[in-house]
Amino acid sequence: MPTALITGITGQDGAYLSQFLLQRGYSVHGLLRRSASAEVIGERLRWLGVLDQVALHDGDLLDLSSVLRVVQEVQPDEVYNLAAQSFVHASWQQPLLTGSVTGLGAVVLLEAVRLLCPRAHFYQASSSEMFGKIQEPVQTERTPFYPRSPYAAAKLYAHAMTVNYRESFGLHASSGILFNHESPLRGIEFVTRKITDAVARIKLGLAGEIRLGNLQAKRDWGHARDYVRAMWLMCQQPEPGDYVVATGRTTSIADFCALAFGCAGLDWKNYVTTDPALLRPAEVEVLLGSAAKAKAVLDWEPETTLEQLAAEMVEADLARHRARLHAAAS
Ligand code: NDP
Ligand code: GDP
Repeated sequence: MPTALITGITGQDGAYLSQFLLQRGYSVHGLLRRSASAEVIGERLRWLGVLDQVALHDGDLLDLSSVLRVVQEVQPDEVYNLAAQSFVHASWQQPLLTGSVTGLGAVVLLEAVRLLCPRAHFYQASSSEMFGKIQEPVQTERTPFYPRSPYAAAKLYAHAMTVNYRESFGLHASSGILFNHESPLRGIEFVTRKITDAVARIKLGLAGEIRLGNLQAKRDWGHARDYVRAMWLMCQQPEPGDYVVATGRTTSIADFCALAFGCAGLDWKNYVTTDPALLRPAEVEVLLGSAAKAKAVLDWEPETTLEQLAAEMVEADLARHRARLHAAAS
């Protein structure tokens, strides 16, 4: 039975990756940082029904000694570094924390792997945000990077260090340059989930409007369930490498609003207002990826359309709010 160690196991991708690996017979371990709100820890893993099938180890990516201890205990065959301060907007408010966790944190884990399990296959969660102010209309593995936020700069450092550990120490270290991917488990602060949650609340009479920032920005959105499969495929290759993972379709926030409100039979224009306070100091206006290399080498392709994704997210948020209403009434 292969053994996987996942940092960021409590996040969106960590939960879907855990489910994916468990289905393939892996022993799944995760790094869990302490929280005073213990009742919400593992909520996403619980939602997917896998919380009691994974082994959680106390530790924090900011604490080298805890990471060394966990890697030593687990002796993983595959290591997935998904932990990060992952919200772009927050990275201007907490640039040093973002640099420490999202940037240096990857090196903490790379060092632990290099010292304790150098044969393990390593995956780094890189991001399309590294393309930032895009230098080519369709971004590939060869497109130059131009980060536009502390988050993107930190991810670029982690990406470069992953490549460097591969070239310097011969680690099987791969970097997935993943474009935005969403699901019912996406953090509520990200725009798709913020919208689908609002659609559900408006539909059920719990809210009357939603405030958004830049409606013109465009993203290449896929489903997290499809994207964790690409992570795993990278770790199965004889040689490590860097791969763009994307759908090849880009959609504006306004058009996503139309789609999501449409799933509930609502016209988004009646409910969406814009708030200048939600604009960013520097914006990534458009992202559009080509996953041609992932298709050619990994035989990876997305399976979920944006329409299916939006419908699944709206349904899940409607179910959540209905359950809360039901619980409050009983
Ligand atoms: P989430 O924000 O949902 O999850 C982030 C995870 O990191 C959580 O489990 C969080 O733990 C953990 N974490 C944060 N700080 C620390 C720390 N100091 N020590 C240990 N763990 C920590 O992100 P996603 O699942 O959406 O994304 C996974 C990875 O992929 C991230 O690195 C993200 O930046 C990257 N990425 C995501 C994309 C997307 O569209 N989703 C696109 C491209 C890259 P806790 O639950 O305790 O907060
Ligand atoms: P990101 O691509 O990782 O920054 O993912 P987000 O979902 O946070 O943002 C995607 C895009 O939506 C960005 O261009 C944001 O500026 C834009 N956006 C517009 N309104 C909002 C909002 O209210 N919240 C968030 N998070 N993003 C918004």
